[in-house]
Amino acid sequence: MADKKRIVIALGGNALGSNLAEQMEAVKITASAIVDLIEEGCEVVVAHGNGPQVGMVNNAMMALKHEDPSQPTIPLSVSVAMSQAYIGYDLQNALREELLNRGILDIPVATMITQVRVDKEDPAFLNPSKPIGKFLTKEQADELSEKNGYIMKEDAGRGYRRVVASPKPQEIVEIGTIRSMVDAGDLVIACGGGGIPVYRDGNKLKGIGSVIDKDFASSLLARELDADFLIILTAVEKVAINYGKPNEKWLDDISVDEAKQYMEEGHFAPGSMLPKVQAAVEFAESKPGRQALITLLEKAKDGILGNTGTRITK
Ligand code: ADP
Ligand code: MG
Repeated sequence: MADKKRIVIALGGNALGSNLAEQMEAVKITASAIVDLIEEGCEVVVAHGNGPQVGMVNNAMMALKHEDPSQPTIPLSVSVAMSQAYIGYDLQNALREELLNRGILDIPVATMITQVRVDKEDPAFLNPSKPIGKFLTKEQADELSEKNGYIMKEDAGRGYRRVVASPKPQEIVEIGTIRSMVDAGDLVIACGGGGIPVYRDGNKLKGIGSVIDKDFASSLLARELDADFLIILTAVEKVAINYGKPNEKWLDDISVDEAKQYMEEGHFAPGSMLPKVQAAVEFAESKPGRQALITLLEKAKDGILGNTGTRITK
């Protein structure tokens, strides 16, 4: 028991799909990848993103207000809370089923609604950068911007998306409860969508309109839980330098210093791979022995066995 490796897994968009039907299918594959790691003898904690989902929930709340103007405007922080619950529901159900199917009967699964404290003065509030919701055409984007006051940006040649502020996580408010559950052997889903962004106002925690990047929240969660591994599961098997260019090179093992140099040289796209590498570096350099791994969802087990993925160590 004592030598069980503790792993925080950060699930990306491909682990959840982009609508309810896709999500219900995707979580089956995700649950299978996670239970593979449990069968390997790892203690797993799950965190996840919510870009498409929080966009959908927030749009639905706006549509309600357009339909009935007497309805209050639902803040983005509340939409993050709703997305945590809705994703957690599907994930915990799929995980429970996969555990039972494999004859693992003694691991309870639960989702922790998690608040994450941010700095109200974080410069990110002045520069909305995190894309959420669906990809749209220029015309659709202009219409939404006009109707709801959203800020829309072109996202790497793939279309237009709404962008929101994405402050850095400072503190996981429910960390004590999460730790107790993990120490007790429960399979916990926490910090969904990066956590519900809040700031402190005396004894009160107030929601603040933003979406925290799940890569940074997962890295903080992994440090707070004294995890051995942070595994960021995404849509690519490895991280590349010169990504998409003729001299593209896929990375296997890199040091924190090499990762920092590649970041400086601009090899990783700001809205997608850069936060992963930054989060991986933050974790790997926080204490000797901590390793971060970035790989494909379906390759999680191969990755933990050292057969694939990009591994970042101090
Ligand atoms: P997630 O939902 O998992 O956070 P993102 O789309 O935010 O996924 O980030 C993963 C994507 O980053 C990959 O699918 C790939 O298209 C892109 N990417 C950008 N730069 C790189 C790079 N240098 N190496 C590998 N992938 C990269
Ligand atoms: Mg991302």
